[in-house]
Amino acid sequence: MYIELVKYPNINLRIKSENVTFPLDDKTERLIKYMTKAMYQHNGIGLAAIQVGYHRRIFVMDCTRYADKTQVFINPVVIKKSDETLTDFEGCLSAPGKRGEVERHLRITLKYQDKEGEEHTKTFYNLEARCIQHELDHLEGKLCIDYGKTTDSSGEEDLLKAMVESSSRVKSNT
Ligand SMILES: [Zn+2]
Repeated sequence: MYIELVKYPNINLRIKSENVTFPLDDKTERLIKYMTKAMYQHNGIGLAAIQVGYHRRIFVMDCTRYADKTQVFINPVVIKKSDETLTDFEGCLSAPGKRGEVERHLRITLKYQDKEGEEHTKTFYNLEARCIQHELDHLEGKLCIDYGKTTDSSGEEDLLKAMVESSSRVKSNT
């Protein structure tokens, strides 16, 4: 089954996502499975619920791309971020063919809930930190191509293939 993603400039991507209540209902459980499937199907490393049409504060992430290390983040809140930042290009599954240059914190501490509603506080670095900040933007209705410097990657087929959700081309090998 091919999963169609919500794509820019669809205004639904601009909706602010809402908090999720626990215990999760069947619909939300299915949504998380659907999001995970969509992320791998589109070769992404992260995907927010809004990208499949649901404005809920949920995103999934797997920067390993091994398809067995999916992390699920529900109601995420940033509690700490590093002063050090890195500016780099990002792609978004919802804006194929475009890249945005975005300054992100190198390190980010996040409080979030898992599928069981259990609360976690964890610090993420580098690509994971960038991916999380990208997904958090989605929850606020913001896209990586909103930051100013945006380029079209049309004509660069290989780059297009490599251009996956939140993936930083320069740092993706770390
Ligand atoms: Zn995105």
